[in-house]
Amino acid sequence: MMRNYLKHYINGEWVDSTGSETEVVVNPATEEVIGNISLGTKEDLDKAVQAARDAFPAFSQTTKEERVEMLENIAKEYENRKDEIIETITDELGSPLEISEKVHFMMGYNHFSQAAESLKKFSFTEDHGGHTRVKESIGVSGLITPWNFPTNQTSTKIASAFAAGSPVILKPAEQTPFAAIILAEIFDKVGVPKGAFNLVNGSGSVIGDGISSHPGIDFVSFTGSGATGEKIMKNASETIKKVALELGGKSPLVILDDANVEDAAKAAVSHIATNSGQVCSAATRTLIPSSMKEEFEQAMKKALEDFPVGDPREGNYVGPLVSKKQWDTVQSYIEKGMEEGATLLVGGSGKPEGLDLGYYTKPTIFTDVDNQMVIAQEEIFGPVMTVITYDTVEEAIQISNDTIYGLAGYVYGKDPETLRKVASSIRAGRVKVNDAEADFSSPFGGFKQSGIGREWGDFGIEEYLEVKTILGYPS
Ligand code: NAP
Ligand code: MG
Repeated sequence: MMRNYLKHYINGEWVDSTGSETEVVVNPATEEVIGNISLGTKEDLDKAVQAARDAFPAFSQTTKEERVEMLENIAKEYENRKDEIIETITDELGSPLEISEKVHFMMGYNHFSQAAESLKKFSFTEDHGGHTRVKESIGVSGLITPWNFPTNQTSTKIASAFAAGSPVILKPAEQTPFAAIILAEIFDKVGVPKGAFNLVNGSGSVIGDGISSHPGIDFVSFTGSGATGEKIMKNASETIKKVALELGGKSPLVILDDANVEDAAKAAVSHIATNSGQVCSAATRTLIPSSMKEEFEQAMKKALEDFPVGDPREGNYVGPLVSKKQWDTVQSYIEKGMEEGATLLVGGSGKPEGLDLGYYTKPTIFTDVDNQMVIAQEEIFGPVMTVITYDTVEEAIQISNDTIYGLAGYVYGKDPETLRKVASSIRAGRVKVNDAEADFSSPFGGFKQSGIGREWGDFGIEEYLEVKTILGYPS
């Protein structure tokens, strides 16, 4: 099916682009063109910003109850579009149908319903005796999102902004624009006030850059690479715009010596298999006790067999990478790892056997990795694991923190005291102990160069608010 979506959604309407440039969207599993989008212009962006500014006075004054109802209606309508959302993400990202449902579809749904729940409990006015604190919508927000989670990152930002009464302009990634089109249709259907949601498709260098430097935008929330995050922060500084950045990581998974080897190996391997390793919070450095080396490596090799690579429509667990560009990047890191002298336990460069069409890559595990190697320091964003050995828990903690990143950390084992010690020593915004379940009310974001700010739940709502102090507020 060809999807030709050449319009932007501005001020409650689908409108033609003021420019004529378009870009093709490719299915990474088939390398076929599956549609086209318009590459918006600065003029399109200006129109969207004006619409959002016009919407601001009324939208920011809607009641909490009105916004809770709106978010609940969005969650319901999102559920009505379930099959289409799953199909679309599988087509544009190459994500296996099961992952498109259980991960991508569900994360978007959870963010909208969680925002409604968090908003119900959120207090916008607090009496502190000598003063009253009022939290008000920050103004107009610009949202720039990457391709790896087409509904997760868009939904968490939009849900939080709507909860806070902030009108938005969204620029999704060019590689995966179609899930965002469905979101726009959902907001249109449930009657999100005109101008509160605007979608402008286009390139990072025109629309993304335009958002971060626009004087009519008060706040930019970005998820993507560190290099782009840096540009956005520089641009935003010219108008003293607040920025929130979610920039990825090189997260450690510390396996303790009392861990069940099979379970821990499976947990490790799932990090590089899920979404083909294109996950900002994935553990990509597995730290194992030296004494466990042989046994653990064999267990990982075996565990990987349960994550077959292939056609995302045929029940495989690992689909292709999103694009030829991403495939090339991942290949160069695999080659780099071999050059650096790491041991290739499984995988390697090139395409998996029998998968010549599509941007498939072999899930790859490097052992005997030194944490100073490039493959242990840089975010690869593909199914590549580095395995590092340690002798003491102190050393494991030191290696875990020897990185510019701090998005996530993981610890696997039994002794409660050691689990607590490692969990509290990892310098990262999110640490998961064993197979703890997801919690959408929990803050998500990074320490160090993994970013600035927190998304999800009440922390997500806070990002789109300004705090006002009122002295002598008549009660
Ligand atoms: P990227 O360039 O940072 O793209 C993310 C978003 O930013 C896209 O919407 C992109 O637009 C936009 N953008 C690009 N240049 C911009 C600019 N100058 N100003 C404002 N916005 C701009 O990331 P990528 O090139 O797709 O991926 C490169 C690497 O980033 C990956 O290999 C991975 O390591 C990392 N990454 C991290 C995450 C994460 O979740 N933290 C997500 C994706 C990628 P276009 O769609 O037009 O490019
Ligand atoms: Mg890009």
